[in-house]
Amino acid sequence: MPWLEAFLGRRCPNCGGALDAAGVCRACREVLVPERSYGGVFLARYPRVKGLVRAAKYRGHRRAARWAAGRIAGRLAACGWAIEAVAYVPGYPWRAALRGGYLPAELAAGIAGELGLPLFRGLVRRRYAPSQTRRATRHLLPQVFGVRGRPPGVVLLVDDVYTTGATFRRAAEALLAAGASTVYGAFLAVADPERLRRLPYRKV
Ligand SMILES: [Zn+2]
Repeated sequence: MPWLEAFLGRRCPNCGGALDAAGVCRACREVLVPERSYGGVFLARYPRVKGLVRAAKYRGHRRAARWAAGRIAGRLAACGWAIEAVAYVPGYPWRAALRGGYLPAELAAGIAGELGLPLFRGLVRRRYAPSQTRRATRHLLPQVFGVRGRPPGVVLLVDDVYTTGATFRRAAEALLAAGASTVYGAFLAVADPERLRRLPYRKV
């Protein structure tokens, strides 16, 4: 109901313009077209989708997150990757509780639903990751992720933003160690698509 949204002054969570469609505005729909880079699919480079990431992550814009998941799923369907289940890079439970939702899990559930695939919830965080300021001690810390149960062979691992890929790699390695053979990636935003060149991760 565009007239109602206009009356209520609703704004596009991505660009802040008038919301003339469900989720994000028509102008944003034109530019937010998912791309594939190596073994990963992403909705857009970070600057282009920054507003949507923040709105979905911190302001609970579920509708925008669902729209993004549907669009990413459409691009994944064209990749022919034989994915068996969808997992997500897990966060810290207390953070999810504070925000009332966890974006990577919502994206993964949306993508799994669109593709008719099961959601694998067994990837968990084992302990607090070191902060960037404690970089020097990072190598001394044990792995951050663990897996409950056995993941299927080919897994799509979802995260909201892919920056250096260090966290994603650790999560993917945990899945491979637990029995997955191949881990593809899907993201709302990437800083640099060329950094996806190591994807998919495969069991060696
Ligand atoms: Zn917009």
